[in-house]
Amino acid sequence: MINRRDLIKHLSTFPLLGGFLGQTSIDPMGVAAKVPVRNLAKELGIRTFINAAGTYTAMTGSLMQDEVVETIQGASKDFMMLDEVQTKVGEKIAALTHAESAVVTAGCFSALTLGLAGVLTGMDQKKVSALPHLEGTGMKSEVIIQKGHSIGYSQALTNTGCKIVYVETVDELKKAINEKTALMWFLNIQSDNGQIKHEQWIEIAKKNGIPTMIDMAADVPPVENLWKFNDMGFDLVCVSGGKAMRGPQSAGILMGKKHLIAAARLSMPPRGSTIGRGMKVNKEEILGMYVALEKFINMDHKKEWKMWEDRTALIGNAAKSVNGVTTEVTVPELGNHTPTLRVTWDAAKVSLPVKVLQENLRNGNPSIEIIAGDMNSLTITTWMLKPGEEKIVASRLKEELQKAAVKS
Ligand SMILES: *Cc1c(COP(=O)(O)O)cnc(C)c1O
Repeated sequence: MINRRDLIKHLSTFPLLGGFLGQTSIDPMGVAAKVPVRNLAKELGIRTFINAAGTYTAMTGSLMQDEVVETIQGASKDFMMLDEVQTKVGEKIAALTHAESAVVTAGCFSALTLGLAGVLTGMDQKKVSALPHLEGTGMKSEVIIQKGHSIGYSQALTNTGCKIVYVETVDELKKAINEKTALMWFLNIQSDNGQIKHEQWIEIAKKNGIPTMIDMAADVPPVENLWKFNDMGFDLVCVSGGKAMRGPQSAGILMGKKHLIAAARLSMPPRGSTIGRGMKVNKEEILGMYVALEKFINMDHKKEWKMWEDRTALIGNAAKSVNGVTTEVTVPELGNHTPTLRVTWDAAKVSLPVKVLQENLRNGNPSIEIIAGDMNSLTITTWMLKPGEEKIVASRLKEELQKAAVKS
């Protein structure tokens, strides 16, 4: 409960909050008021910042949609059986994504581990508790990946005890498949970096009776990707909840074939003696993930896109008004599919190493995060900005560039 002294303290520190606090009396249902009565970032000295960088794990991903936060708050007031929450939410998510079945996992990374666990164990309880020790259990032990798809996330797969077999050509793939092959894994964001494309990967897998999994963690938007890979025939599809969908950062979705999702759930909480026991997702996040997905699917994506473009143009125009600065907007085809502004400056005209600029923006008030490029360039995305922040980013960026302009 907030006391009078704290209230006054906060009112003086946060004039904006004062207005809200003034209207908010104690909720008659005893439900906590929505107003943040404590500012923990301030209390603990944690830096908050304007995120002009993107959906980075280290920057806490994305800001949850309001409806997600409300869902979390509402759900926190009642007990529910964890399995029942997963089952009922899973049915809804599956229907939205054209999957047979689905379950909310602790991020995409845990979806990868648990999906493979399901493939390995099936419904055999003894195998579930044996993981990650595969020897002498009769379980398969190899996952095939294209070399170009190896960007570090395959640790999620080796966590099950499996080893990775790398291939480059169709010929190599066909030779690599053997009686120990558990899974053929595909990484969407690197699909241009491998000779074998989605359809052929699935076709060869099906011919050999090998299950397939695709990691599409950062591949919405476009929203259609949420069902595209299920429709295409991947047996398991894994996505992050806390990136563009703006669900809880620690949530993700594993979707796919009914028997595989059921098997994966054997390695998930509440069941102990499993490799997934530490990958718990609470009921609030499971429900929050569902609401985030539903809102994301139903949102006006054209309008969103236009907003991102307008913000990008505003920031770009401000930057290039400084002599020697050029800008370019591109949209990555794969992963983080959003207008991306690249600002480059001529060092002879603007004497500012990007690391210095980055530090200046970071140490300014308000603090701003961008992505530093090589010496004289940086990258900005606008999809994680709160309304109005684009103006602050535009003027701070221009200010810093201008300050470093070489007088001629
Ligand atoms: C972000 C990401 C992951 C991990 O997702 P989490 O939801 O953070 O667990 C896995 N694979 C790729 C390609 C990613 O971009």
